[in-house]
Amino acid sequence: MVATLGNTVEVPPLDPRRLEPIVGGDRVEELVARGAELQAHLGARRIVNVNSTAAGGGVAEMLWTLLGYARGVGVAADWVVLTGDPEFFAVTKRIHNGLYGSPGDGGELDDAERAHYERALAANVGAVCGRVRSGDVVLVHDPQPAGLIAPLRERGARVVWRCHVGYDGGNEWTERAWEFVRPYVESADAFVFSREAFAPSWVDRARLRVIPPSIDPFAPKNQDLTPFEVLAVLGAAGIVAPDGIHPDPRVRSPAQVVRDGPAVDPRAPLVVQVSRWDRIKDMGGVLAGFARHVEAPDAHLALVGPAVSGVTDDPEGEQIWSETVAAWSALAPGTRRRIHLVTVPMDDPVENALVINAVQRHAAIVVQKSLAEGFGLTVAEAMWKTRPVVASAVGGIVDQVVDGQTGLLVDDPLDLESFGAALDRLLHDPVEAERLGRNARTHVERRFLGDRHLLEYAALIAELLARG
Ligand code: UDP
Repeated sequence: MVATLGNTVEVPPLDPRRLEPIVGGDRVEELVARGAELQAHLGARRIVNVNSTAAGGGVAEMLWTLLGYARGVGVAADWVVLTGDPEFFAVTKRIHNGLYGSPGDGGELDDAERAHYERALAANVGAVCGRVRSGDVVLVHDPQPAGLIAPLRERGARVVWRCHVGYDGGNEWTERAWEFVRPYVESADAFVFSREAFAPSWVDRARLRVIPPSIDPFAPKNQDLTPFEVLAVLGAAGIVAPDGIHPDPRVRSPAQVVRDGPAVDPRAPLVVQVSRWDRIKDMGGVLAGFARHVEAPDAHLALVGPAVSGVTDDPEGEQIWSETVAAWSALAPGTRRRIHLVTVPMDDPVENALVINAVQRHAAIVVQKSLAEGFGLTVAEAMWKTRPVVASAVGGIVDQVVDGQTGLLVDDPLDLESFGAALDRLLHDPVEAERLGRNARTHVERRFLGDRHLLEYAALIAELLARG
């Protein structure tokens, strides 16, 4: 359950020693030692994270485990979530889309939007700054809370702006969004981006650090499940036909599935994309590419996302969902029967994670056909589960998928034919699919687990504290 006290998220500590069987004793010992060192350096000061949601999307996903491990090694780390009205989240979503190079809902980002954004954040200043003391290190995540950077610095905190989104190039939408965000973030003591290419030219390179995200092998999203458990979870969720397997009692709220025919046959190869219902994830493109270009006759596709009312800072979800359902309804009946649109309830994040975990494990191929992507935790999650991934060569995905080695990349995210061909290639060549999946897991183990991520943050925070 999401435990919150006011707008503080209560994260239970996690023992990093549980990582030892995976990453080995040396890596764990280094984490423990650096954690103790950092806490000694912090003294009575704290690390405070500020973002805009405790559930839904990659940032929340990571904070649960990173804060858990940080606390597990004795580092005082907190998490505060800001509040906002629907108009605030509509504006911040527009900024978010802009930073991905997209117009989003097409609305303005002008004086009126700026005034609303500032009013909404002014209403948060008391609650957020009230939890921060002079000398604390505050990690402000993404554009939503960026307007709090100045008041936090005035309070004597050292502030890091952690931007999780980005676009490899630039266009009128990135420019407009950066123009909006720049006055709030420019004064940050440090900037963290997932890739250097995402940082605009005005970001002072001396204050810039590049830190890619990570996943946790023991999070409910990634923990091992037996093939039997996978089918029991998916049967209980109503996604795959139960086929005589007793439904897993941990799933109490089934998924809502739009389909035209029975649940997926457990033997049918299933292509899966897990994403929020966000234009940038291009669920519609996955559907069209699969429907038009995948020839394997027995393959099914599941587009899986959160229940559309479940992600508070994501107001476009309902619209994208409706568009996806409309595109599905327009398909020829034979094709429609092989495509399943799935929304998974978000009320209980652990239950949601279990279902997503099972879906990813059951997939013959995991797809991430994003038009732009900050990192793509869904890619790392699938790779960790030894799934072969077919993904667009955009943003942080190219740091994870080495084409032909740890998955397959499609150069142009709009090239549906190449996308379909890549799927067909793996559907017809299970040996190659297995090889890619095995390599994928090793790649994630080396580069994208939480210990590496925390050490990079620890180094940055130590540097900020040393600056005095
Ligand atoms: N996710 C989830 N339930 C859903 C859809 C997505 O738990 O129905 C998770 C997904 O597994 C991943 C995160 O949300 O951990 C999405 O992170 P990613 O970096 O892929 O994209 P973002 O949403 O941050 O753009």
